Amino acid sequence: MRYLVLSDIHANLQALDAVLAAVTRRDVDRVLLLGDVVGYGANPNGVIERVIALAPDALIRGNHDKVAAGVEPPDTFNAAARYAAIWTLAHLTPAHRDWLASLPRGPVVVDQMEICHGSPGDEDEYIFEPATAEEALRAARAPLCFFGHTHVQVGYRLSAGSLGMILPEADAATEVVLEPGLRYLINPGSVGQPRDGDPRAGYAVYDSEAGVVRLHRVGYDIAGAQADILAAGLPEALAHRIAIGR
Ligand code: ZN
Repeated sequence: MRYLVLSDIHANLQALDAVLAAVTRRDVDRVLLLGDVVGYGANPNGVIERVIALAPDALIRGNHDKVAAGVEPPDTFNAAARYAAIWTLAHLTPAHRDWLASLPRGPVVVDQMEICHGSPGDEDEYIFEPATAEEALRAARAPLCFFGHTHVQVGYRLSAGSLGMILPEADAATEVVLEPGLRYLINPGSVGQPRDGDPRAGYAVYDSEAGVVRLHRVGYDIAGAQADILAAGLPEALAHRIAIGR
């Protein structure tokens, strides 16, 4: 089975389209979506339409989805994130707002893996530190867990009490060969707002028969996404950051 793993699209239609041009629905058997479909970007309705058409086999909500759907107040958000969430709520079609509000809370177990937005124990927790990653690896209900939320493409591997970090290679897809008996925690990166210094859209493809997760990056029309953000009247900082991947 081949799985396309997408996270943190953040209403960036240009980035999502580049990913879906690089890997079409016919290339994969299943699609997993780790949350934050909207927020920050200027095309929430267009992105939700694409996602509905993709017919993900499993999808969970992110913190931005909750706020943009009016499920939670934007209390924990910084000014730009709050502005974008309120803008999104005002611009979503009623059907798309209902769809967003109905997204289930993670984590969810799918086949032999687990997916979460933040961490297996808390959908809003950020996994930045090795200690948090180790805790998450032990808490996960499956030996392979995909997470998002940090917008950083990275992997962690736990073997006999020792934690290893998997960092993506700069110019090629990074291949993570899963070894039996080990536990893995993998972030496919953010489609629409990467923060690991590489502005290209991030995603992962997991081939369960081969036991390999490939971490990919694909360039997209950043200028087009920036122009949409500015034309929508969203904060300039949101246009700036997608060009530098921070
Ligand atoms: Zn996010």
